[in-house]
Amino acid sequence: KQEEKKWMLTAHRLVAQLYHHFLLERKEGQEALHYLKQRGFHEETIKVFQIGYAPDSWDFLTRFLAKRNFPLPLMEKAGLLVKEEGGDRYFDRFRGRVMFPIWDNQGQVVGFGGRLIGEGHPKYLNSPETPIFRKSRQLFNFHRARQEMRKQQTAVLFEGYGDVLSAYQAGILYATATLGTALSEEQARMLRRNAEKVIICYDGDEAGMNAAVKAAEELHKQGCLVKVAVVPDEQDPDEYIQKYGKEAFQRHILDEAQSLTAFQLNRLKKGRRLADDVERLAYIQDALRVISRLNRAVERDHYLRQLAEEFSLSLDALKREQYKLYKLEQ
Ligand code: ATP
Ligand code: MN
Ligand code: MN
Ligand code: MN
Repeated sequence: KQEEKKWMLTAHRLVAQLYHHFLLERKEGQEALHYLKQRGFHEETIKVFQIGYAPDSWDFLTRFLAKRNFPLPLMEKAGLLVKEEGGDRYFDRFRGRVMFPIWDNQGQVVGFGGRLIGEGHPKYLNSPETPIFRKSRQLFNFHRARQEMRKQQTAVLFEGYGDVLSAYQAGILYATATLGTALSEEQARMLRRNAEKVIICYDGDEAGMNAAVKAAEELHKQGCLVKVAVVPDEQDPDEYIQKYGKEAFQRHILDEAQSLTAFQLNRLKKGRRLADDVERLAYIQDALRVISRLNRAVERDHYLRQLAEEFSLSLDALKREQYKLYKLEQ
């Protein structure tokens, strides 16, 4: 078992180097390199993250690994190769993709995320779960970001690889991302152990906002001080940084991050015409529901007061309404 893992790790280290070499030095990788540069990723960033290119071939990696005496069934188990259905031939899992190595906490490559150049399906192909790659226990860029997280006692959590890369170029070195899954309890604990404060900065679309609420709740459970940063116009952080630059991102997005409750209340306001009595009262009802879910009485009190002030209502009326609706103890 340990022996198997060692082989898998060695293979991943070699393959990451190989893909990286193809991206930067070989003509097969030129289109991929051009794609990355045109997205605004600098060569230095590409080197730091050891981004690569998997040639568009069925058996390029298979032959490479076979020549070096890596057992192919083991390489399939490691997620680098796939086995022909019903047959016994192996071929490359990743073909014609930009490759993002994923490092574990010890700084070893344990998997890859592979992106198509341009449009198509599936946009990303990630390594499967393997003995060395447990998705719920890894965060992209965590091993590199950890020191800075500790120093700043702050972590930024993104959804995607590109977001982390753009943030890196913007000088934000304490950023990580989940790997295309919901934030797990273990990932939340990893963050908590290294930083007191976590800023969630997910994509500005509906899916991203919903995922942000879930991630915030998980982090809160682990005892983090959570804030949610909102990227406008359904953009993602990567697009925003590339378009508006690092100062704007810091000042208008990260520095403006809100508590989860403030974020939820703002979301409930969207698309509502609050000048209209009916819509205003509907908003207040929704707001009461969000506020009554808070665990701490001081928190509930804080947001109730805010709501009362905002709409010139008596705190007492709000409390009675909340009590009636949600049977909350006051
Ligand atoms: P890009 O900027 O390259 O278009 P993205 O990172 O903005 O990609 P999203 O669609 O926002 O991509 O998805 C966020 C993350 O979810 C990705 O970085 C990737 O890790 C994961 N992901 C996205 N699509 C898939 C997929 N089809 N299969 C597996 N993982 C995916
Ligand atoms: Mn998205
Ligand atoms: Mn995105
Ligand atoms: Mn993106």
